[in-house]
Amino acid sequence: MVPDFQPIIGLEVHAQLVTESKIFCGCSTRFGAEPNVQTCPICLGLPGVLPVLNKIVVEYAIKAGLALHCEINSICKFDRKNYFYPDLPKGYQITQYDQPICHSGYLDLSDDQSQPFRVRINRIHLEEDAGKLVHKSEDCGSRSGVGLVDLNRTGVPLIEIVTEPDIQSPDQARVYLNALKSILEYLEISDCNMEEGSLRVDANISLRPVNSNKLGNRIELKNMNSFRALEKALDFEIRRQTQILSNRGQVIQETRMWDEKIEETIVMRGKEDAGDYRYLPEPDLPPLEISAKWIGEIRKTLDELPHERRTRLINQYDLPEYDAQVLTIDKRLADFFESAVSEYPNPKIVSNWIMGDFLRLVKEKDLEYDQLILTGRYLAELLKMIDQGIISGKIAKIVFEEMFETGMQPEKIVEQRNLKQINDKSQLSVIVDKVLANNPAAIDDYYAGKERARKYLIGQVMKETEGIANPQLVVMILGEKLKS
Ligand code: ADP
Ligand code: MG
Ligand code: ZN
Repeated sequence: MVPDFQPIIGLEVHAQLVTESKIFCGCSTRFGAEPNVQTCPICLGLPGVLPVLNKIVVEYAIKAGLALHCEINSICKFDRKNYFYPDLPKGYQITQYDQPICHSGYLDLSDDQSQPFRVRINRIHLEEDAGKLVHKSEDCGSRSGVGLVDLNRTGVPLIEIVTEPDIQSPDQARVYLNALKSILEYLEISDCNMEEGSLRVDANISLRPVNSNKLGNRIELKNMNSFRALEKALDFEIRRQTQILSNRGQVIQETRMWDEKIEETIVMRGKEDAGDYRYLPEPDLPPLEISAKWIGEIRKTLDELPHERRTRLINQYDLPEYDAQVLTIDKRLADFFESAVSEYPNPKIVSNWIMGDFLRLVKEKDLEYDQLILTGRYLAELLKMIDQGIISGKIAKIVFEEMFETGMQPEKIVEQRNLKQINDKSQLSVIVDKVLANNPAAIDDYYAGKERARKYLIGQVMKETEGIANPQLVVMILGEKLKS
């Protein structure tokens, strides 16, 4: 009988830190500048220059370590990882090999079925980013297909967060990554923008028979540019490796990448060993000493973390746990909620709008939270307009959608599109008369006691006013006119 197999996954996440300057020089880290303008002899790796460690980078890594329950090493050191690649002008990357800044942390999580699981963090280490290769097939005069290199990114600070092989399904991997991303965003140490490459995930996956504790051969998946792609790639690997193992074959240890087009993983290269990199201690940087006092000071500055904010939202606003969970996934979403509630103090109504129309639009338009232009204040203004009878709840949804897209003030939208509710009795009375005159048959049905006819007449008045008549008032006027 073929045994069942258990997937085993370990993740390595690279996160760019949002410091002003690079890790070993003063060059700017800003994204999107002209190629190669943010460089200097140090990050270009010219002979004879000396790296100087950026203190903020260390502080940010300690913050990440504390939030992930890691121990912070009182002494850590830097190492050179040697390899040749055109985006690495020095021929080596400065990283941390055997004495990383943080180790032995964990994250407690629960999966989609609310089953708790723990992912242990093996280590967090500091390193410098490499440059970026740009492949061009056009725009290069007579040459076709050239590779260009942009070294603005060389020396941008990174932390690499490595888990133990504790993750047992693609679902768990997604839950872990979302939680990690949200923590880094809350700490404001990385913007975690996957499109710009500020957050990059490598995944290691192997299978083992369920009745065995011995880990199987793993493959490493590189270049995952979205969590969705990662999940698909992991699913694919589980199927591929299951098939190999079920046929008594052996999984070859190698590096593979996800091909979006064919929806399969393909071989990139054989797996490299630590030996291939000829690690050696970085001679130009002294070991880094971190005092308990400094760690204590940083601990005091730690902002509220996602799970802490979740608990606070439940207590402070009397929100259901589910709402609090959804609202705190992203810091900007929680900020949006709290800013709206500060001006419209009915938390459940605000939460309903966010979890309903707001998140629906985010999803439909496939937006990231940092692309959102709607402010909490405008949502509050919109909700007040409903309460004041200036617009109906139905019209509010239309205004909301426009507000979401344009970031315009709701009052302006209502004015421009003439959406103000008609609350004037005499004005509505005229319209009701007109509708009655045009629908004698419906009036007969109404007197015959048909509820459908009454609804039809109300509908006609709403249609006549393009939806902006005050519905309660219409019901009242109609009732009065048809009483006799
Ligand atoms: P490398 O130096 O090749 O990156 P590491 O030992 O640092 O290797 O491990 C990298 C990642 O691979 C870690 O997240 C670890 O948990 C994971 N890992 C190690 N062995 C396995 C395995 N057999 N199956 C799945 N993941 C593994
Ligand atoms: Mg690795
Ligand atoms: Zn530089």
